[in-house]
Amino acid sequence: MISFDLTEHDKKVLDAIREESLIARKYARHFDENEEEFPPDQLPEAKDRPGFYSLLGGRDVDDSGMNVLGMLITAAQTWGDYSVRLRRPAGGLGNSALRAAGSPEQQQKWGHLTLAMAITEPGCGSDPSRVKTTATKDGDHYVLNGEKIFVTTGCRADGVVAWATVDANAGRAGIKSFLVEKGTPGFTVVRKEKKLGIRADDTAAYVFENCRVPRANLLGGDETVAKEGSGGFRGVMKTFNMTRPAVAAIGLGISQAALDFTREQLELAGIAIRYGASTASQNALAQKFLELEAMQEAAMLTVMRAAWLADRQESNNLESSIAKAKGGQAVRLVTQGCIEILGPLGVSREHLLEKWFRDVRITDIYEGTGQIQNLIIARTILGYSRNELR
Ligand SMILES: Cc1cc2nc3c(=O)[nH]c(=O)nc-3n(C[C@H](O)[C@H](O)[C@H](O)COP(=O)(O)OP(=O)(O)OC[C@H]3O[C@@H](n4cnc5c(N)ncnc54)[C@H](O)[C@@H]3O)c2cc1C
Repeated sequence: MISFDLTEHDKKVLDAIREESLIARKYARHFDENEEEFPPDQLPEAKDRPGFYSLLGGRDVDDSGMNVLGMLITAAQTWGDYSVRLRRPAGGLGNSALRAAGSPEQQQKWGHLTLAMAITEPGCGSDPSRVKTTATKDGDHYVLNGEKIFVTTGCRADGVVAWATVDANAGRAGIKSFLVEKGTPGFTVVRKEKKLGIRADDTAAYVFENCRVPRANLLGGDETVAKEGSGGFRGVMKTFNMTRPAVAAIGLGISQAALDFTREQLELAGIAIRYGASTASQNALAQKFLELEAMQEAAMLTVMRAAWLADRQESNNLESSIAKAKGGQAVRLVTQGCIEILGPLGVSREHLLEKWFRDVRITDIYEGTGQIQNLIIARTILGYSRNELR
C-alpha cells in the first residue's frame, strides 16, 4: 500500500524549511530586476541558521529511502522563492551526471566541485543525438570544439560535464561526456543568458575552442568509447530519472506559494474557501481556486509516486516522465489561474505572483520539455521504439 504519511519530526523539518525559504522573498524582486547581478553565495540571514541537514539528524536526502521526503523538501525550499537560493548550491546537474556515469576515481577526484552540465547547443536541445561539439582524440588528450547554450549554474560552476561527439558518423553511440574544469585553456564562458524568468539563476553560454582535456576526463573512462551507452546517453538518462521529479517539485513549490498568496487575498476580500462543502455552493472564484488546488495536489502525487518507486529501488522511468509532464503543465495552469482570479493584483510587480508565473515556465522546458516527456510516456505505454514514435 502506498502511504505518504510523514512523521511528526519530518513535518517539523518541512515547516522549518518553508519558514527559512521566506528569507529569499526579501531579495526576489531585486535580483529579478537586476539580472546582471549575482545573488551572494549565501544570503546573510541564512548564515546562522542550522540548515535542513542538521534538522534531518544525520540523514541525507541522497540516502536510500529518502526520495519522497527529498521531493517535499525541494518543494518547501522553493516555496519562498525559486531563483534566489538561500545557500550556495552543493552541486549542479553535472554532479548528478558524475554520480551516474563517472568511475569511482572520477567521483573521488571531482565530486567536491560544483559541476554544470552542457548538452544544449544552438540547433540541438530536445534531440541530444544532434550534438555538434566535437571531441577529437590527440594522443593522451581529447580536443573539444563547439558551442553550448543555456547552461544552468554555468558561470559559478567550477567545471562542466560537456557532451561532445567522438565520431560524427556514429550517431548517438559517438556522443560522450567530458569533464572540463574552469581555467582549462580554450574553455570560455561567453555570457550570462537573459531570460523570461528565474532571472537571478545563473545560466551561461560556453565556447570550446581547441580545448584540450586529458583522456581521463571522459566520464566512465576512455575504454568506454567503443561501447554505446557508456559515458553518454545511458549515463545522462540515469541522471534525468533522478532529477525529473525534482524539477517538477521545484515548480510545485512555487505554484503552492501562488495558491497560498491567492487564498490569503481572497480571504481579505471576504471570500473564504470552504473545504468539505460542495463546490457548487461556493463563490465562482472559490470554485476556480479549488480546481487549481486539485490540479496541484494531483501533480504532487505523481512526483511522490516516482520518488516512492525510487525509494523501493524499483524502475521509475515512466513515472519520472509522468511527474515532469504533469508538473510542468500544472504549475503553468495554476499560476496562470491565480493571476486570473486576482486580476490586477496578479500582474502587479508589487507582489511576486507575476514573477512566479514567469519563474515556473522553465520547469516545463529544461531536462526535457513537456512534449518530449509525453513522447517518452506514449512510447513506454504503447511499446513503440524511438524510431517508431518521434
Ligand atoms: C533557463 C534554462 C536553463 C537550461 N539549463 C540547461 C542545462 O543546464 N544544460 C543543458 O544542456 N541545457 C539546458 N537548457 C536547455 C534545455 O534543456 C532545452 O532548451 C530544451 O531541452 C529544449 O531544447 P531546445 O531549446 O533546443 O528546443 P527544441 O528541441 O528545438 O524544441 C522546440 C519545441 O519543439 C518541441 N519538440 C521538439 N521535438 C519534438 C518532438 N519530437 N515531438 C513534439 N514536440 C517536439 C519542444 O517540446 C519545444 O516545445 C536550459 C534551458 C533554459 C531555458
